[in-house]
Amino acid sequence: MRQKIFGPTGRPVPVIGQGTWSLDEGHRPDAVAALRRGLDLGMSHIDTADMYGEAELVVAEAIAGRRDEVFLVSKVLPNHASARSVVTACERSLARLKTDRLDSYLLHWRGGTPLEETIGAFEGLVRQGKLLSWGVSNFDVPDLEEALAVAGDGRIACNQVLYHLGERAIEHAVLPWCEAHGVAVVAYSPFGHDDFPGPDSAGGRVLGEIAAETGATQRQIALAALTRSASVFTIPKAARLAHVNDNAAAGDLTLTDRQWQRLDEACPRGPKPAHLPML
Ligand code: NAP
Repeated sequence: MRQKIFGPTGRPVPVIGQGTWSLDEGHRPDAVAALRRGLDLGMSHIDTADMYGEAELVVAEAIAGRRDEVFLVSKVLPNHASARSVVTACERSLARLKTDRLDSYLLHWRGGTPLEETIGAFEGLVRQGKLLSWGVSNFDVPDLEEALAVAGDGRIACNQVLYHLGERAIEHAVLPWCEAHGVAVVAYSPFGHDDFPGPDSAGGRVLGEIAAETGATQRQIALAALTRSASVFTIPKAARLAHVNDNAAAGDLTLTDRQWQRLDEACPRGPKPAHLPML
């Protein structure tokens, strides 16, 4: 599994991690087994959130006895982003995850609380050792500029954003901004949250051709395409073991320039939207 340095943390993190939204909708032991299989295959970046129902409890079970292997990320909702609520929400997540620290803690999206308050609380939790880093999610460039002005250089670990072959808006400005400022980009919903290019679409046809040429699966090709830039990581969610195996194997796949060019033409970036899309 390929690793890259995760923004200013300086820590190597696998390019493919594991999402947990709706992971426990089926059978809890299966969700735990899926995450453990992912860990066995090197997908040690686990993404969860206070918002994802029982997901933090599922993660706690999956990482029991293996905490040191995991790059553990959770998120706080914007309505818990005040100085006091961030601390309470973080402590609740730590308790649910049965751990004493998070590798990163993200503001899930921009809300009404001044960033000074939220970032001040994040930095306080860093000083206490409860957070090893903090970041943001669904931040467009003006929000990133504001966060940088508050926090200073080298403090924003990552920006977790919607990015898949059918939604490439981040490539216009967010991705270049993050690359210029050393902020890791974490692509969420890499399969479009179940809107993967079908066989009748141009993207689906090119994915099928490249899959036939390389022996890789279409999902692996999509993951390799999304993580082609030096600062991009991704966190597909997979409840089925076959899907977990498939995704992990993408961690060692790189596309040729020509393969990427064909995908780029089949799944065009499109014009820059007025607002950064989010799920
Ligand atoms: P996703 O990862 O784009 O897609 C998940 C779907 O793809 C599931 O139906 C899964 O099936 C299927 N799948 C996974 N691997 C597959 C494979 N190799 N072959 C075929 N199908 C496969 O969706 P997502 O859950 O929206 O996004 C991933 C993670 O990003 C979330 O779980 C969450 O952690 C994070 N996220 C963050 C935000 C944010 O605002 N920050 C928003 C959305 C998501 P099975 O589950 O049946 O295996």
